[in-house]
Amino acid sequence: MVQELKHFVDGAPCEGTSGRWGDVTNPATGELAARLPLASAEEVTRAVDAATRAFPAWSQLPPVKRARVLFRFNSLVEQHTDELAALITAEHGKVLADARGSVIRGREVIEFACGIPHLLKGEFSENVGTAIDSYSVRQPLGVCAGITPFNFPAMVPLWMLPIAIACGNTFVLKPSEKDPSVVLRMIELLHEAGCPPGVANVLGGDREAVEALVADPRVRALSFVGSTPVAESLYARGSAAGKRVQALGGAKNHLVVLPDADLNQAVDALMGAAYGSAGERCMAISVAVAVGSVADELVARLKPRVEGLVVAPGTQPEAQMGPLVTQAHKDKVAGYVDLGVREGAELVVDGRNLQVPGNEAGFFFGGCLFDHVTTDMRIYKEEIFGPVLVVVRVPDFDSALEVVNSHEFGNGTAIFTRDGDAARTFCSQVQAGMVGVNVPIPVPMAFHCFGGWKRSLFGTQHMHGADGVRFYTQLKTVTSRWPTGIRGGADFIMPTAQ
Ligand code: NAD
Repeated sequence: MVQELKHFVDGAPCEGTSGRWGDVTNPATGELAARLPLASAEEVTRAVDAATRAFPAWSQLPPVKRARVLFRFNSLVEQHTDELAALITAEHGKVLADARGSVIRGREVIEFACGIPHLLKGEFSENVGTAIDSYSVRQPLGVCAGITPFNFPAMVPLWMLPIAIACGNTFVLKPSEKDPSVVLRMIELLHEAGCPPGVANVLGGDREAVEALVADPRVRALSFVGSTPVAESLYARGSAAGKRVQALGGAKNHLVVLPDADLNQAVDALMGAAYGSAGERCMAISVAVAVGSVADELVARLKPRVEGLVVAPGTQPEAQMGPLVTQAHKDKVAGYVDLGVREGAELVVDGRNLQVPGNEAGFFFGGCLFDHVTTDMRIYKEEIFGPVLVVVRVPDFDSALEVVNSHEFGNGTAIFTRDGDAARTFCSQVQAGMVGVNVPIPVPMAFHCFGGWKRSLFGTQHMHGADGVRFYTQLKTVTSRWPTGIRGGADFIMPTAQ
């Protein structure tokens, strides 16, 4: 009997009424794991109704009391880490230890949001004019919505929801239809922690639900994480409709290896960053830029490591890489590897025919390594989002920087070197939002902001950290004077402090 999932609206699970369903598969077995109701526009309206009703009381609750709900939520997520990680592995496929790590990184955003009384503090200026004071406050927007991708089904929703509701907003989340169970469990935990009905709602859904969220004028802000075409379109339409939009898109992250790098460290870094989570990370390294003499040695060292990757169901402790998320995604990744061969790149390791004994119907795909890739090839230009690392050879540091900066995406990047001067120049001049120096996946902690440049992010504010608070609040500045006996009569000119 396949489990039928439910939406979670107005404080309780509720049956889907659209008659449309999405299949959730277990990628390690290829079997149908659950059916998800896909919300209609009417169901979205009902969720926004609930969030609208909840807003006045929630936004008026002192921030310290909102924070207490989040303290309890954080503690429950911590207690349930293994259960949540298991739900991620069952529907996404990534290995359990990696899934646990993503829950912990998500929790760090809840911990950050617990500091909301401090984060919402405004500014005060005494005597901006004689006996006139000014202060600023940050106030919530109203109903906010989040639309999230399949690859971090717990962490990315946690980039948004805790900060949005800590700021006093109410929220409607539409997670990826491919692996929704972990979010549906977390929303139960949030309510166990004392979150009032309607403050946080989750809808199963696909494009139809997203369109309804964009169309509803009561939705004041949209946070999106996913592929670039959808990010760009939602940013354009949401902004035109007067909403705040932050829309994070795709990536092609480069790791530059200089000849003086510690090669053991660089190879370890490339293995984890390119093949961890089967390359289905927005911060995965998918391009190694080998500078000068380092290229032959780098590829020679990578080859046996990629061939030796342990690919197995994510539940097996020895697994280094699980399956891809769906058969369709596996076909897409395989199509790119075929394309790379046709484009003339050298396929040093071919993972296309990998079989995992006992799991033949799973969506497993072996690690692939391409050498002599050039920047005009589609396997270089486009996001593959699988365990495929391409090596681009360049003669020197300047050409490496030029390669990174010429790419349309600018999410994350890294440099491996012992040369402080080169590293500093790289950090200063590289066109990307997140930069690592001998750190392959420089994902900022919750109290810093996460976001890319160029076509990796549409909008002005990044996720979490100070930008998260700015995004989910609007600034108000109050200028006040109390009767003091000083009377100057009506002013018809621009007031100044003189
Ligand atoms: P996706 O764009 O297919 O889906 C993301 C969300 O948008 C899902 O909830 C989906 O239901 C919805 N959606 C899909 N098509 C839509 C459409 N036409 N109109 C409206 N909504 C639509 O992305 P995905 O495959 O789930 O995730 C992988 C992508 O996300 C990759 O491109 C990856 O780089 C990106 N990503 C980026 C970041 C980042 O921080 N920049 C983080 C994680 C993932």
